[in-house]
Amino acid sequence: MTTPPAPAYSLSPAGAEALAECFGDRYRTAPEDLAHWGRDWTRSFPVAPSAVVFPESEAEVQTLVQLARTHGFKLVPSGGRTGLSGGAVAPAGEVVVSFDRMNKVLAFDPAGRLLRCQPGVVVAEVAARAQAEGLYYPVDFASAGSAQLGGSVATNAGGIKVIRYGMTRNWVAGLRVVTGAGDVLELGRGLVKDNTGYDLKQLMIGSEGTLGLVTEVTVRLTSPPGPLQVLVLALPAFPDVMNVLATFERAVPVTAFEFFSDLALEKVVARGDLSRPFAEAAPFYALIEFEGAEDAALDAFEHCLEAGWAQDGVLSQSGEQAARLWRLREDISETISAWTPYKNDIAVPVAAVPEFLAAVDDRVKAAYPDLEVVWFGHIGDGNLHLNILKPDNVSQEAFYARCHQVSPEIFAAVQALGGSISAEHGVGLLKKDYLHFSRSDAERALMQGLRRCFDPDGVLNPGKLL
Ligand SMILES: Cc1cc2nc3c(=O)[nH]c(=O)nc-3n(C[C@H](O)[C@H](O)[C@H](O)COP(=O)(O)OP(=O)(O)OC[C@H]3O[C@@H](n4cnc5c(N)ncnc54)[C@H](O)[C@@H]3O)c2cc1C
Repeated sequence: MTTPPAPAYSLSPAGAEALAECFGDRYRTAPEDLAHWGRDWTRSFPVAPSAVVFPESEAEVQTLVQLARTHGFKLVPSGGRTGLSGGAVAPAGEVVVSFDRMNKVLAFDPAGRLLRCQPGVVVAEVAARAQAEGLYYPVDFASAGSAQLGGSVATNAGGIKVIRYGMTRNWVAGLRVVTGAGDVLELGRGLVKDNTGYDLKQLMIGSEGTLGLVTEVTVRLTSPPGPLQVLVLALPAFPDVMNVLATFERAVPVTAFEFFSDLALEKVVARGDLSRPFAEAAPFYALIEFEGAEDAALDAFEHCLEAGWAQDGVLSQSGEQAARLWRLREDISETISAWTPYKNDIAVPVAAVPEFLAAVDDRVKAAYPDLEVVWFGHIGDGNLHLNILKPDNVSQEAFYARCHQVSPEIFAAVQALGGSISAEHGVGLLKKDYLHFSRSDAERALMQGLRRCFDPDGVLNPGKLL
């Protein structure tokens, strides 16, 4: 952790008084509260908010924005704080806006299959409520038990089912937001059809709290898939993973296609409550979740074995076994967080994944011969997570400085393949300096202009994204 700089944005005595009057005991400044709500899952940025507030209604959010404009303080929206790009970090005297108290499911519309929620509802609760109604909310990721719906909209979260169901934006039917100008916008209204000009709802999704504060989200639900099974394959060589993907996509409805390296598996099983799925280790593993059609999946597996693309496989025989196989993949992020990894969340066109991984793996091994590098990701949608683990004997600053030096080379390789430097975690503080690798000068200028339209005084999440 670096030493916090002097706060760049101060909260004046008059601003503090106004907040205390408006929020009562929901305005907090105790050091432990500031440390807790001032950061997200990243641990590499200084944390120094002036205060944290807990609004309970849209009207209070609107008042808060007006107070920020009047008194000149800045706001950092904060959801479940599971973000991996520093988007919810308050490093410089901002006021954190926690949506923890706006956590109610407001209404279910069975005809439209719509669920209207406050932003602080946890993503897993949306899925549970959908299930209780005989329906399905298909956005799922390892931190869904803590991430909030508002945060998942602000980051356009992806996760493990994107190959079949797409990102969060595919499931948002309506939004209510308070802009940085203090206006309340109702966007989408749950309509299936609405061709009335620019789609501001889609603009808001993935904007990382820089255009507006999300105060209500209406998500569309769908029919649940049939019974799902999980197959984990041991892969002798990475380039063949795309042949495996194509084979399975032809054979069965694939709902997830994930991969992880042997080092990732080693770290997860070392925690003690899971065991290796195969007697013989392989350099890489693929986890394939599919709907029904076990015979077709076994034929596809045989084909992969005969072609030499897979060396072994294990198929779940029960829901419980499927869940344990999933944990081999889903527990990776949390397991390696003990090493405060330097994370890269990158995407390239699906067909280019093997070429990209080979090139970057060579580069990374040359740059970090002494460091452990863990690969995993949602490979079915071209999304790779490259994690460099910090050794115990190196300081956070020295480690990050070293990793930062290599990042531009990795991003140049991403750019050359037409990829993205942030597939699903967002830009936040972490990728801000590298945005030009994915967005042109003209695009960034337009983004700046849009930001000024929605937030003329720059009160929302300053210093993030752009
Ligand atoms: C173990 C682990 C696994 C993960 N796996 C995935 C994955 O597979 N796919 C994926 O996409 N992400 C993943 N993430 C990242 C993270 O969980 C997602 O980005 C999630 O959507 C963040 O939600 P949150 O509520 O925690 O947001 P926060 O971290 O609190 O905030 C994220 C951003 O949203 C803004 N924000 C929060 N609430 C609001 C609001 N109401 N209005 C406006 N802006 C708001 C914040 O300012 C910030 O910029 C993972 C994280 C962890 C720790």
